[in-house]
Amino acid sequence: MTSFNTALVLLTLVGLGCAAAALYFAIRADRLKSQLLDLRDRLATTSRENKRLMHMVEYDDLTSARSRRYMRELFASKPQDGKNAMIFMDLDNFKSVNDGFGHRAGDTLLRAIADGLRKACKEGEVLFRLGGDEFCVFLENTSVPEAVERAKAFVAIVSDCRIDIDGVQVRRTASAGVARIDKGQDLVGALYYADEALYAAKQSGGNALRVTEGETLRSMIARRTSPRPEDMAEAIRREEVTYFVQPIFDTRIGKAVGVEALIRWVRSDGRVLLPEKFLDAMIGNQARQIIPSVRATSNISTQFAGLGDRFYCAFNISSRFLEASALEGSDLIDDLIGDLDPARTVLELVENAAIQNIEKTRYLLDLLRERGVRVALDDFGTGMSNLHWLSSLNVDMVKIDKSFVRGLGETGKDTSILRALHSMSQSMGFDVIAEGVETEASLEVLQEIGIYTAQGYLLGRPERPDFWHARLSQGMDGISSPMRRPA
Ligand code: C2E
Ligand code: MG
Ligand code: MG
Repeated sequence: MTSFNTALVLLTLVGLGCAAAALYFAIRADRLKSQLLDLRDRLATTSRENKRLMHMVEYDDLTSARSRRYMRELFASKPQDGKNAMIFMDLDNFKSVNDGFGHRAGDTLLRAIADGLRKACKEGEVLFRLGGDEFCVFLENTSVPEAVERAKAFVAIVSDCRIDIDGVQVRRTASAGVARIDKGQDLVGALYYADEALYAAKQSGGNALRVTEGETLRSMIARRTSPRPEDMAEAIRREEVTYFVQPIFDTRIGKAVGVEALIRWVRSDGRVLLPEKFLDAMIGNQARQIIPSVRATSNISTQFAGLGDRFYCAFNISSRFLEASALEGSDLIDDLIGDLDPARTVLELVENAAIQNIEKTRYLLDLLRERGVRVALDDFGTGMSNLHWLSSLNVDMVKIDKSFVRGLGETGKDTSILRALHSMSQSMGFDVIAEGVETEASLEVLQEIGIYTAQGYLLGRPERPDFWHARLSQGMDGISSPMRRPA
C-alpha cells in the first residue's frame, strides 16, 4: 500500500470514528433531552400534585374555607401574645336543612355561607371550617370589642345568606362565641374558650353572641370543677345541702328587715362548699332535685316569722330551674312557693336571666305578685342592664350587684349610676338594696345617696340560720358595724 492509500485508510477510519462519536453523542443528547423533558414533566406533575395535596391539607374539602389541619399550622406560626382572638360559629338548626331538603342542599348552603364569610375576612382574619356546620375565624392583632363587632358582622352574613331549593328560600341563623387568645395559649385552649362562649350563646336559644368573660367564664370554671350529678343526688339525700342566711339591714335604724337564704353544701368532713361549686350540677342536671330544699326554706321562713310582720326571707331562684320545670303558670308558682307564707317571702331572680326571657319573666313575676310574694331583681348591673327595660318589669326590689358597691367611697365611678337608680326607684316605687357592703366608706356613700337597705360582710356574713335567729331575736342587729342614722 502506497503511503497515499495508507493516509486515505487512516482518514476514513478517523472520519468513521468521528461520525460514530458524533452519532453516539447525538443519541445521548437526544436521550438526555427526552430525559430532561421527562423530568420536567414529572416535576410539573409533582408540583401540581404537591399543590393539590397542599390544597387538600390546607383547605376544607367542601367549602372555600381553610381546614382544621391548616389551623394548627397557622396557629403555631403566629406569636400568641395575647393580641389575637377566636370566633367560633355554629349554624342554628342546620340539621333541619339536611333532613328537610337533603344533604346536597345542606352542602350548597354551607358552601354559600363559607364564600360569604371568606370574602368578608379582612387582612389578619382567616376563616376555617372545623367540620359539619362549625366555622371559626382567627383574628390577629385585635381587641375583644373589635372581635365582637366582627363576630356580629359574620353572624349577619350567615343570616343574610340564602339559597333557592326548588323555589324555596333556605337560610339559617348562626350563634357565635368570642374569646381572646391568652398569651402563650395553645390551639386547644383557644378553641375551648371560644366554644364555651358559643355554648352559652346556644343555651340562650341561639341566634346570639357571647364572649368568654365575666359570667360565661365564671360559670365555665364552676362547671369544670362541678361535682358529678350522682354526688349531688347523694348529698341531697343525706341532707348535706342546706341554707345559710345573711341579714339585710335598714341602715337608718340598724335593724334587720329580712334575711337572704344562701344555699350551702356542708360536706361530711365539715367543709362548706359555696353555690358556685355545685349549683350548676344541681340545677342543670337534676332540676327537680332542688325541690327538697324548699322544705329547708320553709323551715327558715317559719323560724324567722317571729321577727316582725314584714320581716322577710329572700330565696334565690334560678331561671334555668324555671325553664326546666315541666310545670307552668299557677302550677309552677304553687310548686315554687310550697307552703311559704307569701307575705314574708321575697323571690330573687338574677337580672341577666330575667332579660333573656323577658316575656316569660314578666308573666311569672305578675303571677307571683298576685299571690302577694315580693320579687327582687338580683345582681342588678351585671347584665346588659339599662335603666330603660327595668321600667318594663314589675319588681318590688332591685339588688345592686356588689361590683358596683365595692369601690364606693374610693372613687366616684359608680356613684352616678346608683344615684340614677335611686331616683328611678323613687318615681317607680321599688326598693333598692345594696349588696356586698364591705367598708364603712361605701356604707357612707350609700346613705348619702339615699340607699338605706344594705347587705354585706361589714354588716353580717352568711351564717347558719340558728346563729342569726338568736342574734336578731335578741335585738343584736347591727353587731359588726356601728350604723348611723343619716344626718
Ligand atoms: P346572690 O344572690 O347575689 O347572693 C349574694 C352573694 O354575695 C352570696 O354569695 C353572699 O355570700 C355574697 N356576699 C354577701 N355579702 C358580701 C360581701 O360583703 N362581699 C362579698 N364579696 N360577697 C358577699 P354566695 O352565697 O356564694 O352565693 C352566690 C350566688 O349563688 C348567689 O348570689 C345566688 O345567685 C346563687 N345562690 C345562692 N343560693 C341559691 C339558691 O338557693 N338557689 C339558687 N338558684 N341560687 C342560689
Ligand atoms: Mg340573691
Ligand atoms: Mg346578688
